[in-house]
Amino acid sequence: MPALLITAVGLLLVAWFAGQPWWRERQRRRVRQQVFPAAWRDILRRRVPLFARLPPDLQHQLKGLIQVFLAEKTFIGCQELTITDEMRVTIAAHACLLLLNRPGADYPRLRQVLVYPGSFVVERDHTDGIGVAHRARQVLAGESWSQGQVVLSWQDTLDGAAVPDDGQNVAIHEFAHQLDQETGHANGAPLLARRAHYQRWSAVLSEEFMTLQARVTRGAPSLFNDYGATDPAEFFAVVSEVFFEQPVQMAQEHPALYQQFCQFYQLDPLNWA
Ligand SMILES: [Zn+2]
Repeated sequence: MPALLITAVGLLLVAWFAGQPWWRERQRRRVRQQVFPAAWRDILRRRVPLFARLPPDLQHQLKGLIQVFLAEKTFIGCQELTITDEMRVTIAAHACLLLLNRPGADYPRLRQVLVYPGSFVVERDHTDGIGVAHRARQVLAGESWSQGQVVLSWQDTLDGAAVPDDGQNVAIHEFAHQLDQETGHANGAPLLARRAHYQRWSAVLSEEFMTLQARVTRGAPSLFNDYGATDPAEFFAVVSEVFFEQPVQMAQEHPALYQQFCQFYQLDPLNWA
């Protein structure tokens, strides 16, 4: 009986420790102190061209974030896909790009990354304006769920990463949604560093969102993909892709929006190579 009691108390203590922020940070520091495997560096070189653009201090920071991300999040292969280090490191690199310079940012809700070999089909039920239920089939390259999952097509992730200056990157897009979902459902208003920032964020993004909608309606070209005009959540995810991949054009054509994204991501990609 005493042995059982001691075990129970021990388990409770472990659970209590694991739940403490200082304990988690201690564990993370240990993970970051491990040597970043040469094979992972090679994957970054081959599969994540954005990595080479980062200044050395951000490269160092990103490697630590990748180590922690891979230690804490589970990857699941779908349709019998076998998860490889190439998939884990490539996906984690894009996820963690969005966490740079933001201490404590760690996708607290995210538990699993589901990976399909290619685009995948989902069936969704929806009810139209006159109350008739429909079932629609959609072919997707990625999805982000507020219950703690990001779903990605591996082929689309590779394609998005391979061309780092076309403003199309499904991994950045889905992890931007995941950040947005930290406040509940995605609505284009992620957690900002200060309460005072929301007013300006909302004003700038609303205006730019309406401008994009008007352009799409007219059929006029824009730096941002038309899909960003769907709703404010898609706008935030689409603009995030452009912020990291086409900062020069975005800063020139949308300076106020660019400045808001610099403040949110605590980064200025204009300074990168
Ligand atoms: Zn989206």
